[in-house]
Amino acid sequence: MKKVPLQYLRSITQAAFFVLFITAPPLNIFRYDLTLGHFILFGHHWSLYIDSALNSQTNVAINVLLYGLLPVIVIASGFLFIAWRWGRIYCGWFCPHFSVIEIINRLMIRACGKPSLWEKKSLPQQQADRQILTPDKRYWLPTLITALLFAFIWSVVLLTYLLPPFEIYNNLIHAQLTRNQAIFMGAASIAFCIEFLFARHLFCRYGCAVGVFQSLAWMANRKAMVVNFDRSRAKSCKDCNNACDNVCPMRLQPRTLKRKMFSCTQCGQCISACTQVQQFYHEETLLHWVDGEAAEKISAPPVSRNAPFSNKQNTNLYNTSKHHPGSTITQR
Ligand code: SF4
Ligand code: SF4
Repeated sequence: MKKVPLQYLRSITQAAFFVLFITAPPLNIFRYDLTLGHFILFGHHWSLYIDSALNSQTNVAINVLLYGLLPVIVIASGFLFIAWRWGRIYCGWFCPHFSVIEIINRLMIRACGKPSLWEKKSLPQQQADRQILTPDKRYWLPTLITALLFAFIWSVVLLTYLLPPFEIYNNLIHAQLTRNQAIFMGAASIAFCIEFLFARHLFCRYGCAVGVFQSLAWMANRKAMVVNFDRSRAKSCKDCNNACDNVCPMRLQPRTLKRKMFSCTQCGQCISACTQVQQFYHEETLLHWVDGEAAEKISAPPVSRNAPFSNKQNTNLYNTSKHHPGSTITQR
């Protein structure tokens, strides 16, 4: 049976989750209704039922525990367990914010040759599949329109997580938004647009609590799944323009140690890029996901000067700048 390409599979999960992100409030799958003062989950009202328990302090405590703390602890534990075992897989494969990051990255690369305005150097024009992408200023317009469009979608969808969705969509379609609804949408659209254009991956790296907690759980498990570099074939990199680094949406260097990959989202783009590079030599990718003992080796490397996996060696080994000027691996 033919293998489904990794990035194709990921596009499907991302698209499906984006649809769920938009449709969860109108379908009453999940939302918090400010007018009712409680959550709605799969069509059921999820409340602490404090009013009905006010006759006894014990009942109030039980209700807070049963309907408040317990579900939160169970959901958070499950989420953190997944991150502990497989890393920030939610970010790379499902998160609707990360999907937008990747779309705008791609457009920005077409417009100016860089995935972000803060990147010092342009990326090599040759892609992993040997296609040449020459920056074209005409792509700035679609970049701007896409950022604006997603910012608007995000602002509307977020509002539907807080207020009755049909009221919001009805008011929007008939241009009858209340003053507060219009202010929220306007302010949120501007804020998201600025974030999408200027601070996309920076938010994911440093600003997103969901991402940071997943990273912390992942770092705590030295046997967790991680992208590993086949060091025995490191010489193969000399004919490559660091394609794996170039494609990383988090601007990481996938051939490095786990502790420098704190914000890796397990998107596998580095693996796919290396697969494309190596297929021209009829070789396998040098980057693979590993877990268990293999992961432990790169998670807890020996730190002595003579150790085979020291930082110094690592830097020298992977610096291929002399073959490809302008593609030096630098810490971004
Ligand atoms: S290091 Fe690889 S898997 Fe991790 S975020 Fe970058 S491209 Fe994705
Ligand atoms: S691992 Fe080496 S060969 Fe593979 S994409 Fe990265 S630099 Fe190129």
